Amino acid sequence: MATYVWDFTQGDKDHKDLLGGKGANLAEMTRLGLPVPPGFTITTEACRFFMRHGAVPPGLGVEVTTALRRVEDTLGRRFGDTTDPLLVSVRSGAKFSMPGMMETVLDVGLNDETVHGLASFSGDERFAWDSYRRLVQMFGRTVLDVDGDRFADALDAAKAARGVTSDVDLGADDLRELVDTYKQIVREDVGRDFPQEPREQLDLAIVAVLRSWNTERARLYRRKERIPDDLGTAVNVVPMVFGNLGPTSGTGVAFTRDPSTGQPGNYGDYLANAQGEDVVAGIRNTSSLADLERMDPGAYGDLRRAMRQLETHYRDLCDIEFTIERGRLWMLQTRVGKRTAAAAFRIATQLVDEHLITLDEALARVSGEQLTQLLFPQFDSTADRTLLARGMAASPGAAVGAAVFDSRTAQAWAADGKDVVLVRRETNPDDLGGMIAAVGVLTARGGKTSHAAVVARGMGRTCVVGAEALDIDVVTRSFSADGHVVHEGDVVAIDGSTGEVFLGAVAVAPSPVSRYLDEGLDAALSAAPDEATQDLVRAVDRLLQHADATRRLHVHANADTADDAARARRLGAQGVGLCRTEHMFLGERRVLVERVVLADDDAERQAALDALLPLQREDFVGLLTAMDGLPTTIRLLDPPLHEFLPDLTELSVRVALAEARGESSPQDVRLLAAVRRMHEANPMLGLRGVRLGLVMPGLFALQIRAVCEAVARRLADGGDPRAEIMVPLVGSVQELRLVRDEAVGIMAEVGAAHGVDLALPVGVMIELPRAALTAGRIAEHAAFFSFGTNDLTQTTWGFSRDDVEGAFFAQYTDNGVLVVSPFETIDEHGVGRLVRIAVEEGRAARPGLTIGVCGEHGGDPESIRFFHGVGIDYVSCSPFRVPVARLEAGRAAV
Ligand code: PEP
Ligand code: MG
Repeated sequence: MATYVWDFTQGDKDHKDLLGGKGANLAEMTRLGLPVPPGFTITTEACRFFMRHGAVPPGLGVEVTTALRRVEDTLGRRFGDTTDPLLVSVRSGAKFSMPGMMETVLDVGLNDETVHGLASFSGDERFAWDSYRRLVQMFGRTVLDVDGDRFADALDAAKAARGVTSDVDLGADDLRELVDTYKQIVREDVGRDFPQEPREQLDLAIVAVLRSWNTERARLYRRKERIPDDLGTAVNVVPMVFGNLGPTSGTGVAFTRDPSTGQPGNYGDYLANAQGEDVVAGIRNTSSLADLERMDPGAYGDLRRAMRQLETHYRDLCDIEFTIERGRLWMLQTRVGKRTAAAAFRIATQLVDEHLITLDEALARVSGEQLTQLLFPQFDSTADRTLLARGMAASPGAAVGAAVFDSRTAQAWAADGKDVVLVRRETNPDDLGGMIAAVGVLTARGGKTSHAAVVARGMGRTCVVGAEALDIDVVTRSFSADGHVVHEGDVVAIDGSTGEVFLGAVAVAPSPVSRYLDEGLDAALSAAPDEATQDLVRAVDRLLQHADATRRLHVHANADTADDAARARRLGAQGVGLCRTEHMFLGERRVLVERVVLADDDAERQAALDALLPLQREDFVGLLTAMDGLPTTIRLLDPPLHEFLPDLTELSVRVALAEARGESSPQDVRLLAAVRRMHEANPMLGLRGVRLGLVMPGLFALQIRAVCEAVARRLADGGDPRAEIMVPLVGSVQELRLVRDEAVGIMAEVGAAHGVDLALPVGVMIELPRAALTAGRIAEHAAFFSFGTNDLTQTTWGFSRDDVEGAFFAQYTDNGVLVVSPFETIDEHGVGRLVRIAVEEGRAARPGLTIGVCGEHGGDPESIRFFHGVGIDYVSCSPFRVPVARLEAGRAAV
């Protein structure tokens, strides 16, 4: 029957798709017997209907009536009653938390009559009128689209008329007059009266919340967090409880562990005599839960019990919003809490030690993204620093940048390539663009649960909040603190792990987790400045070890030099999956390749090749030494020619100018003719990879010979070289056969010369759709496959990998064609399908065929999950991503 409205007694935490996170958890807390006001949730299905049709589903009104009556009966209060009215809040709540991005309307049900009922229930005339004026203001702004400044101006005028500066100095009569003024504003602005009928208020508020799913800031947030646009929000209708009924009331946010460091123990912010939104908005500075314990031990005890029950039930860190109304605790929200990367690792292992979760679960609860954040450097505490202020550590990291005072400037400066720190009194959801653009966020007000803190933590942005010593002047775009004045553009440094704010740039030191990865556990533990850092390093070590023990995928590295390879090995790489040999010829050696490519005749080319041979051999000896005993995949040259030849336009101009001066050099003229001959309109689709090797005699032979000689040298030195030769950009099995036959000949020749058996595996890169579609035929002649997903993405989509990111991808993510760049995360449906086909047909032709991935996707968490699922053997990524890939490969397996 009822489909769109669920009572809190009906659902549970597993219904987030339908009830949103808030609704599902309110239902779960209700099921657990915790004190939740008896409300109901309008499902996300209603929102999806609303998005499709621009109107609420027919029948929703009747369902709301039924649910509302149940609430009235439970509480013994009536909506619209003039003596003891039921008031409700109407709150958004999507499946994934989007803090502050959508609308909420409080105190729905107040009107010219019921305001008297509220006055008598609360015994506080002023409170009732203040609530009413808040409703007209909030409703006017969010439901009726009245410009919020008009209400703010009227409030200022009322204060000026009274000669006071603070809202709380306005009395009941002032507020009554203010309600009249607000209603007048609504009439003028909207051309209708503020609705007096409570049910009409409710229906309009529900529509406003549904609409708020698609506000610009909500869409921006979703893009950033990769939340799909079609999920929709649920709407929670919750009876009001009041935290602002005097000193025995209050409201707060609590965490069952510290979400910023992971330290065990209850933790939170409390504001006595305040309404819920005041804490989250960070408008007043808050007290701690310890203060609450002193003020109201009874309510505090109830809260602690509820927190423990929730943490045991969810088996994870929970965050909680609560209100105490005249000494009675009400739970208004809970969820598995957001946390910093350090807290995630520490809490996961703590819960294992407390026997609440298994190691597998702990591994699933941390991510490669978080591990990446832990690799951020921190400020060097021994460096010279001028401390300006101290705030709360809201989101870790060390950020240095120019101070800017508004979101728009932050975005503009960042677009020009500047590092900026966004400095605000407090942030609101409209600052989101600036927070994304900035390297750090600094506020003068608000607690760890303020908007700035929650959003910054969510996106891994360094953030310090509540630095009260900052006196910010947005008009002159400056702030003063501790006798210094910082103007827009002056550099500041903020430490999101300690809450410190410094003047000027501060030197940064490597992170303890980086040290652990580079130097090992003991070195990192002895260098750790405190126990919390040691605990973090141990947690990372334990979960990485578990990932290594659990994962099926091997992790190799893309490394072109011995140094890179050695670093990758220290970071846990089990081989080199891709050595891009053309990278060995960048810089000074570029001319050598240029000479090979542009040679006029065979003799000239052979001379150029002979000059390359010893250099290549030494490169490979170094690489094979660093990777002794581990597979080392050396790819034959794949230079897109535009990267290796002189620029045609520049060279043409140079030759023309020289000719005009009568100084033309025959060498340059010859070079120009050759560059013209080789010039390509689409170099990425041109004479690259195997094609170049086949049309340029001697080039691949030189490289293969250099590999063989390097292997022979390493064998002679008692090493264990495991070189493999990989042929790039193959589209036809014939291309592979030609190169392989040549390789077999060279191996035999070099082997005989050195008296060793050189049967190096010759494999192929799958980076063209045709290669994937003919994988069965190719596999018959390939010792292994390695997916070059960069080129495979380029050629499957027909997107030029060098051009698209700047050109139109931003628009493509704006208009929803792409959720994420396919060059970043594998496009499972298209490119992924080709991968599946090639794996299946390759292995059918050659059972046990080793298959790797060496495109950028090899280091991307989501893509790693996909590769695990399709039976790839290893991923290969840049050295610094190796630990992330190890962790993610482990997570994919649990
Ligand atoms: C690829 O195309 O995915 C690849 C690894 O090769 P490159 O990036 O060098 O073209
Ligand atoms: Mg490629």
